[in-house]
Amino acid sequence: MAKKQFAVIGMGRFGSSIANSLTEMGFEVLAIDSSEDKIQDAINKVTHAVSADSTDEEALRSLGIRNFDVVVVAIGEDIQASILTTLILKDLGVKMIVVKAQNELHGKVLTKIGADKVVYPERDMGMRVAHHLISPNILEYIEISEDHSIIDLRAPEAMIGKSLKQLDIRAKFKCNVMAIKTNGQMNIAPYPDDLIRPEDVLVIVGRNADLSNLEIAYS
Ligand code: ADP
Repeated sequence: MAKKQFAVIGMGRFGSSIANSLTEMGFEVLAIDSSEDKIQDAINKVTHAVSADSTDEEALRSLGIRNFDVVVVAIGEDIQASILTTLILKDLGVKMIVVKAQNELHGKVLTKIGADKVVYPERDMGMRVAHHLISPNILEYIEISEDHSIIDLRAPEAMIGKSLKQLDIRAKFKCNVMAIKTNGQMNIAPYPDDLIRPEDVLVIVGRNADLSNLEIAYS
């Protein structure tokens, strides 16, 4: 199967980080930015880098944008350009359009006009850092819906040596321990009698409010 081809529009911090990561993973990446300086920075890091204004439909068409499997719109500040670009990509028949949103309203508009995925990098990172600040044992925080998340929780002192049955996380916090990571090994269906060892990481799913109660109780 041919490798997926990506185009990233907007080589700011977010866009260039995506473009560089995809290139490092071995994918073909076309970087597009209206700023010649940004293109000069990108030219040695990605497969192709082109200076173009993405609100110019003809420019995008001539780059063959519709042949890319995924197009990422990483224009941050200029919301109008981000929306216009998304509309043009949709019109040109791009299969998968991923767009960075500045705020909830921007995100709503993007979804309405047909963005396949809307991402909020600043909001998500802010949320992760906040959770980590409240409880340094939270290693990862992933939102899976508006109300539900998955956390990676490094076993706090109070859990060590206890079994899942004793901890009774489901009854006490209405959250589920989906897996336990021990020395890099993943136990994906832990038994009630499995004991929590030092350095274990518990992968827990639940409603955001319930997860917060659990974090606070064990912080
Ligand atoms: P970040 O917050 O991720 O750094 P920025 O908003 O600072 O994002 O950067 C967005 C990038 O998008 C800039 O490099 C800018 O030159 C580029 N950009 C803005 N508008 C357009 C456009 N219409 N066409 C192409 N690139 C654009």
